[in-house]
Amino acid sequence: MEKFDQPIFVTKPFLPPFEKFCEGLREIWDNQWLTNNGPVLRRYREELKTYFATDNICLFTNGTLALQIALQGMGISGEVITTPFTFVATTHALYWNKIRPVFCDIEPETFTLDPKKVEALITPWTTAILAVHVFGRPCKLDALADIAHRHKLTLIYDAAHAFGVQVNGKSIGHYGDLSMFSFHATKLYHSIEGGMLTFKDSKLNQIFSYLKNFGFKSETEVVMPGTNAKMNEMQALMGSVLLKYLNTLIEKKKNIYTIYKERLSAIPGISFSPDPAANLEYNYAYVPVLIEKTAFGMSRDELYEQLKKYNVFTRRYFYPLLTDFACYQSLALSILLDTAKTVAEQVLTLPTYADLAEQDIHKICDIIEWIHNKFC
Ligand SMILES: *Cc1c(COP(=O)(O)O)cnc(C)c1O
Repeated sequence: MEKFDQPIFVTKPFLPPFEKFCEGLREIWDNQWLTNNGPVLRRYREELKTYFATDNICLFTNGTLALQIALQGMGISGEVITTPFTFVATTHALYWNKIRPVFCDIEPETFTLDPKKVEALITPWTTAILAVHVFGRPCKLDALADIAHRHKLTLIYDAAHAFGVQVNGKSIGHYGDLSMFSFHATKLYHSIEGGMLTFKDSKLNQIFSYLKNFGFKSETEVVMPGTNAKMNEMQALMGSVLLKYLNTLIEKKKNIYTIYKERLSAIPGISFSPDPAANLEYNYAYVPVLIEKTAFGMSRDELYEQLKKYNVFTRRYFYPLLTDFACYQSLALSILLDTAKTVAEQVLTLPTYADLAEQDIHKICDIIEWIHNKFC
């Protein structure tokens, strides 16, 4: 089996045609307005309002600051129940608000917070649930909403992976009290860097606008100690241009996902999440598989290392678990996180990006098959 001549990475940012971005740059040059709620940003926000069918949208320079500001603006404090199977930013945003993360196990099919295990962790200090739509798979929306309602908790979603996902014909951003989307270059849809909040309570619009711009209300009035988390005109331009490619992107990602699934699910020890339910329009942003050592014949880590020799660079998202990082180690009762631990040890995300050639996907599958047959 030949290795790839050039390395294949797990993802590659999607770029629009150069001319399309340049047209917009001309407008920015003519405006001579680079940031602070400029005309391109305002137009982009209108486009997103239409896309999400809500007026409650706030744009930020990245998703992490968006989430930090969300927690701050909503007055979340004390303890928040969250998942250890996520990107570090989810928990960091709590830490920066001096909130104690309480880690809850995940469920094995979608790797999202397990509602059956949430209630046991609620204490008098619990104020919110912060769940993550991992790999764009929706959390157990109804069960979490029910728990939040019964215990009067705020329900917040880290929807960093879930742009373009619809449930029951509605954007995923309509579920819970608030959702954070990341527009980082490595996400399915991006604005170079960027972040967005969608939320139910329209009063938050004003608060978030203050918080992302130093708390300025007017030239001479500062109404709260805000920070700087504004999205600039270049970011807004990229976001606006790419919005037109969103459906094409999702189609391409779906095709890639389908090829992997057809080719690899037959191999013992490799498993995929169940196909999306009928009421779900999924974005196929990632291709996570679980590698079960005994059936496959080698561990996930061994396969990950083997693939590198063929110039295929997969990623172990999310490994290690948040609770294995030094800064959060002391917070976790690890006996309660069995599923999260198993998934973190078995998960491997495979290369997927818009211009990944079909023949290359087949070659990646051939290599995995070859490794399985040769070593196992
Ligand atoms: C990317 C990501 C973030 C952070 O978003 P940035 O825009 O990179 O700050 C937060 N949570 C999850 C789950 C992510 O994948």
